[in-house]
Amino acid sequence: MRKSLYFLLLFLLAGFMSLAQGKPDYSKITLVIHGGAGTITRQNMTPEKEKAYREKLNEALQVGYDVLKKGGTSMDAVEATIHVMENSPLFNAGKGAVFTNEGKNELDAAVMDGKTLMAGSVASVTTIKNPITAARAVMEKSEHVMMIGSGAEQFAKVQGIELVDPSYFHTETRYEQLQKIKDKEKTQLDHDGGTSSNENIFTEGNKFGTVGCVALDAYGNLAAGTSTGGMTNKRYGRVGDAPIIGAGTYADNNTCAVSATGHGEYFIRSVVAHDIAALMEYKGYSVKKAADEVVMKKLVERGGEGGVIALDKNGNIAMPFNSAGMYRGYIKKGKAEVSIYKD
Ligand code: ASP
Repeated sequence: MRKSLYFLLLFLLAGFMSLAQGKPDYSKITLVIHGGAGTITRQNMTPEKEKAYREKLNEALQVGYDVLKKGGTSMDAVEATIHVMENSPLFNAGKGAVFTNEGKNELDAAVMDGKTLMAGSVASVTTIKNPITAARAVMEKSEHVMMIGSGAEQFAKVQGIELVDPSYFHTETRYEQLQKIKDKEKTQLDHDGGTSSNENIFTEGNKFGTVGCVALDAYGNLAAGTSTGGMTNKRYGRVGDAPIIGAGTYADNNTCAVSATGHGEYFIRSVVAHDIAALMEYKGYSVKKAADEVVMKKLVERGGEGGVIALDKNGNIAMPFNSAGMYRGYIKKGKAEVSIYKD
């Protein structure tokens, strides 16, 4: 009798301890991705191209979800998912990055951990195969948040992160996009005697194509990551919103994790990702209401084209965009869903 009472007590104590430690809850694990927003319509898509995008987006979702299912952290899942998209020439990140005005590929990336509020980013790097891994290393292995250019590359080398020759990032499709924009730019400048602002030309290549991922793991922690080549024809060391914490990337367990894609200058000025989190924190908005308010109202009023993916700690998802389309998808309870167009 005494013995069974003793075992009962032991059993209750073990149950209490695992509760106190926060037992992993696999029912809520969720992963959301985007592969860029912009002028993505059925008219300018071929069935083959659409199939290729859908397959890659599904693959990326599955890779990240497998990490979460095996008990990996949301940060592990975000990094693994973004690797799939960085390594694919379909997206404007890693291989497949767009070209600068000078004909180079300069990459930006960031990560943020919603539990610790730690963050890391790299900007204007030209030799790091997977910039998202370098961003994570800045967060975890340095005392800094952001490193740029050759300094970031030197740091990546010391960390044993894979470096490649800049030619690795060259793809013909992206190079042609640059030539097209440059031709248009020339025509426009010739027409108005060189007084025109280059705003229209700059946004011409606006199939933005940046990649991003937000995830919720079994421990209830959120993480966000974004990786990009920026915008076609960008000038002199231009840095977009993706590596700016609070603009293109943000995560806080108390509110949400966000990754953005779109015309970076507008996303920086509107501090988009943090604004969504702030609306949830200060106004008690749901993740959907907050993301809609910023993307479909504020950004539209200011002329900023693009979209975001956002996820809260209960696994609620928002994927608003004010452009024609956005490559996007999520996976939850083992079911993946991928979409491209508005309807
Ligand atoms: N937001 C990125 C930038 O401005 C572009 C994109 O979303 O593709 O650098």
